Parts: sequence; structure tokens; C-alpha cells
Amino acid sequence: MLFSKYCEYLEELQNESGRLNMIETLNRMLSELELSDIKPAIYLSLGSFGPDYDKLVLGIKDKFLLTALSKLTGIPGSEIKSLYEKYGDVGDLAENLSTKIGVQTRVDDFFSDETVNRELSLSKVYESFSKLAKEGLSNNAKIEIIGDIDSNLSALEKKYYYRALVGKLRLGVKESTWIAALAKYNDEGDKEEIEYAYHMTSDIALVAETAISNGMEGVRALCHVHVGTPIHSMVAQRISSGEELRKWIQGEFAIENKYDGYRIQIHRTSNGIVTLWSRNQESYTNQFPDILEAVEKLFNKSVVLDGEVVAYDYENDKVQNFNILTQRSRKYGIEETVKQVPVRVFLFDILHIDGKDMIKHPYLTRREVLKKVIPENDIMVVSDIFRSSDPEDADLQLLNAKETNQEGIMIKDLSEEAIYEPGKRSFFWLKYKADYSNNLSDTFDLVIMGAKHGKGKRAGVFGTFLMGIYDRVQETYHTFCYLGSGFSEKDLEELTAELNDIRVEEKPADYDSVVVPDAWFFPHIILEVSAAEISDSPVHTVRDSDGKAYALRFPRYTGKRRTDKSVPDGVTTLDEVVEISKHFRIGSN
Ligand code: ATP
Repeated sequence: MLFSKYCEYLEELQNESGRLNMIETLNRMLSELELSDIKPAIYLSLGSFGPDYDKLVLGIKDKFLLTALSKLTGIPGSEIKSLYEKYGDVGDLAENLSTKIGVQTRVDDFFSDETVNRELSLSKVYESFSKLAKEGLSNNAKIEIIGDIDSNLSALEKKYYYRALVGKLRLGVKESTWIAALAKYNDEGDKEEIEYAYHMTSDIALVAETAISNGMEGVRALCHVHVGTPIHSMVAQRISSGEELRKWIQGEFAIENKYDGYRIQIHRTSNGIVTLWSRNQESYTNQFPDILEAVEKLFNKSVVLDGEVVAYDYENDKVQNFNILTQRSRKYGIEETVKQVPVRVFLFDILHIDGKDMIKHPYLTRREVLKKVIPENDIMVVSDIFRSSDPEDADLQLLNAKETNQEGIMIKDLSEEAIYEPGKRSFFWLKYKADYSNNLSDTFDLVIMGAKHGKGKRAGVFGTFLMGIYDRVQETYHTFCYLGSGFSEKDLEELTAELNDIRVEEKPADYDSVVVPDAWFFPHIILEVSAAEISDSPVHTVRDSDGKAYALRFPRYTGKRRTDKSVPDGVTTLDEVVEISKHFRIGSN
């Protein structure tokens, strides 16, 4: 597909009717794409350059593109900067510069015989992103690569090319939109099967390419554990009383500690390559060299394990607080923090062993295998379970957990049907947290939708944030509260810097909000928020099926930024809020 045609589709997806008919538009796009275009077309539409676990990082910011545009057009930097401030978006700037001055005035091309505006293919443009992602490129080399592409683009193409360079396409297209489009495209396509293949491969573009080249048979063939590639983790439903577990689990269940750390998926291929993955398919391999070393030493088989890594006090044999774990550096001084913050992994599942997938086996079978596979060692231990058939035990164990400052307990179905369900908030696993059982000091993972400028001491930064939850049915974010407490000055400075990078001019199409903050943001940053109560709301848009609106009262940032979660899956859902509100809702505010 020509890049110009692809941009026409992007333009369509941005306008009102395109937004309403996204699935239909993507479906039409699919029918025109050549096989080699499918991956670039899908990744770009998602604002990415590859699957989450292996995407290219360009590290290009707006500021750099202003310098590039100045060099490429010959327009002084100061002029470019003020035009950028006028448009507020580097794509709009590039588009308008092009129509204003015409491509021919590009300094390099001015006296050149080369014809400009050769039509570029989508794959050719996408190739330039791979070139730009190469490490160690000088700024001049980057500008040259960008210039090579730029000189052949129309105004509309420039708009999307420059937006893509800074990762700001923001079309509102999600993986779920592609799943729906694929199911529609492929007559025999079953949405659930496509979704399952996506959870198993963590790569919707691979699923699409396979569906188009090999049909559903090919898609089904993808549905196995690919050792070395992270699988979407199974997650849990919440309950707020021991009795409530009977709604979901009829027979025996296992009770385990709910360890408060990071979810970790450990992969070792048959030829000994070990990779570690976070819950949102980011690599932990460099961040946890101690775990890596242990896995390398302890196993000689291919294996995929699931567990929670926590900071651990080996002297006193105690799990440490989550905040200590966050001191484990991601990038710099890793070796030092390895010494300062020792960790332990509590393993609770095994998804694959020695060429065999375990996910379709019931939990007790998986645990038996897990126990056999893990040799005696300090750093990786299998979580303890307590078996019971009496819901009162859940309440008792929760009391224990509270006394020992644990976050709560996990309750797992022990029936034969209770398989591992990748990517699902499954009823085979229930989380019962210390706070659900009495008052609403429960926490929510809310996304920053907008913000108001700070006043007084907080002038110059954003001081209050408009926070939202996610509605999976309508695929919409609803506002739930304004949040202003619990932040340190440093938090606000850091958040402001990051938010400025994801600021958007208009309210995104999938935001449901009556209030209008000073700034809107692309949904990206998830904060953990506690609150006193849920109350009726005259202004927020979280509504139950009777149309009653809720808001959080006295919300407070807990200091826990949920970088381990990504939007929209990691955001507290409307269903969860409605369920919790049954227990903690008070009258109108
Ligand atoms: P929360 O925000 O309440 O910490 P969560 O939203 O991170 O929970 P859920 O899937 O809802 O995630 O709860 C399960 C999470 O709890 C898992 O993703 C995992 O990180 C963690 N966890 C801790 N201990 C266990 C355990 N024994 N079994 C399964 N998950 C556990």
C-alpha cells in the first residue's frame, strides 16, 4: 500500500464518522493491504513500532524534530518554534510548513534535479523507523534519514509521519479494535479465538498476518506457549467477603498470600536463553540479573513460570514493603541496587515445561509440576497454599494477612475446569484484599485524563488531575474524581514533564467527561488512588446500569505509580467500580 493511501485511512479514522466506524474502516484497510504491509499498518495505527515485548524505541522528541524541520526547510529555529507553539503539534506543524512553503523550497532540494514526491510505500516509510532506532546514530544522521523520507511526502503524509516519529498518532485504535475488525474481515473468524491467539502471542499484528495468509487454521496453530515470548498474564476478580467466593467457586479452593510486588513471567528456552517479563510485556531481564542468574543455574529444560517478585529481607526472613522494591533500578546502577534490595520470587504457576504446555491443566496439576521443577534454592520459591472448602477460612486467612501486613489473599479454584486463562480477569482466581472487607481504604488504578494548573506553591506544574476508569463494553474512559492530594513536589514536577509529552489539543474521542480541565492527555499514566468512600456524583460520568453516577470522595494518591500496568487493561473497570460501590456507596455529596 502506498503511504499516501495509508494516511488517507488515518485521516478517516480521525474524523467524526471514521471514529464511529473504526472497525468498518480498519476492515476496508485490511482488504487493501498487501501481506508485507500488515504489520507496519497495525503497529503504526497503535502508535507503536512492533509488539509490546519487542518494539523499536526511537527516543525522538518534538524538540528534536523542530531542529530537524529547521534544517530541512531552512526556516530559522525561532520561527519554527513559534509556529509549533501556534499549532501545538509537530504533525500539524510539518503539514502546514509543507503547504505554506511548498516542498520544493527544501534547502537540499532547491537546486537538485531529483524529482520530489516520488510516492513511497508504507513499508519503505516503516523501514526508516528501523533505521532511526539503531543505537549510536548522530543527530545529523537521524536528520538525514528523516529528510530522505520527508522530501517525498505530501503535506498530509508529513502530518502522520512526524506524529509517528514522536509516537503521537493517537487515533484511539486499540488491539481490541483490530480484533473486532479481523473477526469481521475473516468470515469464519471467531472473535474469541482471535483474542486468545493475541493473548498467547502478545502480537496482534502477527495474528492478523497469520489470519490473512493462513485463515483461522493458522490462527489456531498460534495458540500455544511460545517460549521466550511473554503471554498475557491471567488476572483476578475481586471479592469483598468470604461468602462472596461461593458465587464463583462451588467446591474446594486454595488460599495463598497476595504478595505485593511485581508480577514476573520467567522464560527459559530449550537452548538456555532466559528472559524475564513484566505484566505489560516489558523486559525485566536487565533489571533482575540476580533472578536471571538463578534461572540460568537452576534449569536445564525449557520452562515458563509465573510469579511475583518482592523485595526480601533474608536476615529476618520477611517480605519487604512494595516501596522498597521500587528502589530496584530499571536502567542505571543496576548492580548496586541488586545488592541494596535483595529480592525473592514467589512462584505460583507454570505455563510450560520441556515442550509441553501446562495452561490447560487444572491448578493442582500445575502446582504439582511446579513443585517438582523448582530445585531447592533461596531466590525462587513456590508459594504456599492452604486448601479449604469453607468460605469462613477465607475470612480467617484474611485476618492473618492483615496482622502480618500482607496486602490480602488470593483464592484459587481447585476444580478440574480451572485452567490458566491468559489475558483474562478470570473467576478461577479471586483477590480478597484486607481493605475490601470493612471500609473503602481500597485502592483503584486510575488513568490521568486531564489536569488543572497548580496555584500558589504549585504554580508552574499541574496540581490537580482528572482521573478516570475504563468501561470495557463501550471502550470509553469515564471521569471518576479530581485528584490533588498525596503528591510530593517532586511527583508533580515529574508528572508535569511526562504529561507535557502526551498532551493533546482536544478531548480524546473515547473520553466521557462533562468537566473540562486545563489540559487533556492521551491515556497513559496510571496511578493508584485510595479514597474514603464512593458517593453519588453530579459531575462525574461513571454510571451504573440505572444511570446513577458515582465519584470517589477524598481521593488520595498512594505514591504507587502503576508502571507495571498499561492502558486500558490495567485501569480499574466500570464493572469493578459498580461492584465495589454496592458495598461502599454513601448518599449524595
Ligand atoms: P492489585 O492492584 O489489587 O494489586 P492487580 O490489579 O495488580 O491487583 P490482579 O490481577 O487484580 O492485579 O490481582 C492479582 C495480582 O496479584 C497478580 O497480577 C499478581 O501480580 C499479584 N499476586 C500476588 N500474589 C499472588 C498469588 N499468590 N497468586 C496470583 N497473583 C498474585
